[in-house]
Amino acid sequence: MALKLFNTLTRSVQEFKPLDAGGKKVGMYCCGPTVYDFAHIGNWRTFVFADLVRRTLEFSGNDVTHVMNITDVEDKIIKRVRETQTTLREFTGKFEAAFLDDLKALGCREPHQKPRATESIAEIIALIEKLIARGIAYQANDGSVYFSIAKYQGCGCHYGQLLKLNLDEMRAGERVASDEYEKESIADFALWKARVPDDGDVFWPSPFGAGRPGWHIECSAMSIKALGETFDLHLGGEDLKFPHHEDEIAQSEGATGKPFVKFWLHGAHLLVEGRKMSKSLGNFFTLRDLLAKGFTGREVRYLLLTAHYRETFNFTLDGLHGAKTALARIDECVGKLRELAGGVTAAPESGLPEQFSAALADDLNISAAWGAVFKWVSAANKRLAENSMNAPAAAAALAAWEKVDSVLGVGVNSEAEIPAEISALAAERTAAKKAKDFKRADAIRDELKAKGWVIEDTPKGIKLKKN
Ligand code: AMP
Ligand code: ZN
Repeated sequence: MALKLFNTLTRSVQEFKPLDAGGKKVGMYCCGPTVYDFAHIGNWRTFVFADLVRRTLEFSGNDVTHVMNITDVEDKIIKRVRETQTTLREFTGKFEAAFLDDLKALGCREPHQKPRATESIAEIIALIEKLIARGIAYQANDGSVYFSIAKYQGCGCHYGQLLKLNLDEMRAGERVASDEYEKESIADFALWKARVPDDGDVFWPSPFGAGRPGWHIECSAMSIKALGETFDLHLGGEDLKFPHHEDEIAQSEGATGKPFVKFWLHGAHLLVEGRKMSKSLGNFFTLRDLLAKGFTGREVRYLLLTAHYRETFNFTLDGLHGAKTALARIDECVGKLRELAGGVTAAPESGLPEQFSAALADDLNISAAWGAVFKWVSAANKRLAENSMNAPAAAAALAAWEKVDSVLGVGVNSEAEIPAEISALAAERTAAKKAKDFKRADAIRDELKAKGWVIEDTPKGIKLKKN
């Protein structure tokens, strides 16, 4: 079934067709984290959305190259490095490692390439040199190199492909040096920032003098290096449309003279309890904050995957409790199917995967996709209760679930989700029972209960379930 997606470039839902002549290979670039702090739940919405896009394409048989950069040098990072008196690599390394751990905890497939900006300086410089050679970039009196919007437009290119911008309000010659700025200040933006004392040790030599790259040119250079001058998909949160993505298009198309990206996908933002997240409002959560409250990565993933990517999502702790209940329904059904199937395997039954893929093909209609899953759970539960399912039928139902879960990635509550401390207690209880020390075994059962876990003895061994 043809996959349709909303392309910000054309402001419409369009059929997605890979550029690859064979129709299989897809190049996908998602702007990665700025590693100056732990990623928050809003950031995670965007990265889980990117994972959904990738998994949907893979489900449809595409061979995806997923690239996610690590922004490890930009204004905010330099400020923090200065404040904390660390080195750039020491500072960013800690947050990069935490980011990759969280990505795993959320069940996201690891991107095939994760280029760091600091390791792409040669490509960044080469791209700036191309822009200078084409007369689109210039070195200003402050020593920094800027992108000239007027020269770019003069070459017949269009600035403002993603957003409607009022270029008449732009005053010729105005420049902006910082990485982040508002639409009101459309201006020539910095490609290479000349070294200043505040940068400390963070600088590289270049033909334009010592300095460091601007944030926007980093993504142009890294995406072109990984995926070529023209590629299929570029993703990010909606806040990146301007200036980041608009500037990426301008730099890339200005340097290569070719269309940069065919499809731009933007995920809407996440609010917490109806408000913009902020540390001062006390509604700012990292994934770690939520894990410390006893939620799991799959519960957070499930919740983030319940809303359509183009709708603002209101994240609440109540919603996370709801995610726990919803996943428990799936776990219970899948657990029963596993038991009934025993060791039998079968090809997936067709109903669920067909309904599920039709829903996703419709601009990732995730509500309809979950609707198909829960309808299937109800039907399977009914058949199980009526004893009208045999082992091959259970195996076929299970295979269908596994197929759709290759996209959802919520799996089934498994050992991996059981903390080591809980598994150790359960093993101790089994040993106590074996040694006929029932007092100790009961005490461990109570201790597990107090920690939120129920232990059940089944003919196949023990089963641990969350309360
Ligand atoms: P950053 O690390 O700040 O560069 O952001 C990483 C990604 O998170 C970008 O794609 C942003 O657009 C996205 N993002 C930032 N805040 C939110 C939010 N509240 N909701 C959804 N995505 C967000
Ligand atoms: Zn980017």
